[in-house]
Amino acid sequence: MAGVLASTAAAVGIIDKAVGIAKKLADDSGELDKATLKLELANLMSELASVKMEVITTQALLFDAEQKNKKLEEQLKDKQTFTFNDGLYWKEGDETAFCPKCYEVEKVQTHMIFSRAVGSYSASWYCNNCRNSIYPKSR
Ligand SMILES: [Zn+2]
Repeated sequence: MAGVLASTAAAVGIIDKAVGIAKKLADDSGELDKATLKLELANLMSELASVKMEVITTQALLFDAEQKNKKLEEQLKDKQTFTFNDGLYWKEGDETAFCPKCYEVEKVQTHMIFSRAVGSYSASWYCNNCRNSIYPKSR
């Protein structure tokens, strides 16, 4: 993004110069001779051509940044793929369930705590964040 900022700053600088020339032409229009007018107009056109080049550079840099951003977003999405199974959220390669209430309502990923079945109590997952208990059919 540093390239984009530098390129944008350069474009703004050139636009300032062009505006200066245009202002001079407007203010002194009555007093300027034809030769001076022609010279100032040529300067103005040169500045406008420069700013066009800077904008094209900025456009290319922004396009690259956008592509990179899209790629990173996709990677992030893959990394955070959650599956909903047996009333719980699971992440690939992670044996600990995530709380469905926290994930769906609060949009936070909270690991739950597993309690094995003991006597008449069935196995459960408990969330320390929202105190939600889930009794899965499996496990
Ligand atoms: Zn929770």
